[in-house]
Amino acid sequence: RKAVVKITTGSQALDELLGGGIETLQITEAFGEFRSGKTQLAHTLCVSTQLPTSMKGGNGKVAYIDTEGTFRPDRIVPIAERFGMDPGAVLDNVMMLLSHSILLVCMQRWLKNLSDYWWVFLELTIPNKLNLYFFQKLAQMLSRLTKIAEEFNVAVYMTNQVIADPAGGVFISDPKKPAGGHVLAHAATVRLMFRKGKGEQRVCKVFDAPNLPESEAIFQITGGGIAD
Ligand code: ADP
Repeated sequence: RKAVVKITTGSQALDELLGGGIETLQITEAFGEFRSGKTQLAHTLCVSTQLPTSMKGGNGKVAYIDTEGTFRPDRIVPIAERFGMDPGAVLDNVMMLLSHSILLVCMQRWLKNLSDYWWVFLELTIPNKLNLYFFQKLAQMLSRLTKIAEEFNVAVYMTNQVIADPAGGVFISDPKKPAGGHVLAHAATVRLMFRKGKGEQRVCKVFDAPNLPESEAIFQITGGGIAD
């Protein structure tokens, strides 16, 4: 069995909650309300992934699959500087795959080339009602990502936007609907629920994970990425 690599989120509290960081060999899913920090964590991981393992990094490259157009190269610059890395070199090691969800079929072709990369970030927003074709393509893609994670000791982090209800709760998905959320939930080993806390604070709760207690951690979003 391959040795798990744990990559820092940038927040010590969040790392501790996760038993050290975002792990290889599995899919970690972050879901939760808009602006809760899911994408900012993805940007931070783009950088921390490239840190040496002695600095809680993965010494690896990144593939960022962006179906929502949320990747901001300019955000990488201050995050890289915070970790003492050269922003240009860091950006060179982030392979961007911009895809509209309807083009998931093309993503599968890209996925064949991902095995060189250590970490895969998937920024995916799934419509609540999927047609069968899309549903099948999504399931295939997630199955492929799981295999890549296991075979090449890669970490997969994916975000899943869910709609916040007016009462402040979160609709995970309607169990009666064949929602994409179900496909994602099924594929992920670790499911994290993000929400806004007081002021600039953000909260991450372990929603479902085989080896982690269901606790919470508080973190902040800063110019330099996720922090305590
Ligand atoms: P989502 O969960 O929808 O993916 P994001 O990860 O995009 O949310 O987080 C958005 C939040 O990040 C906003 O509240 C914004 O204020 C904060 N944010 C974005 N960039 C910065 C920055 N440079 N400095 C501090 N906070 C930032």
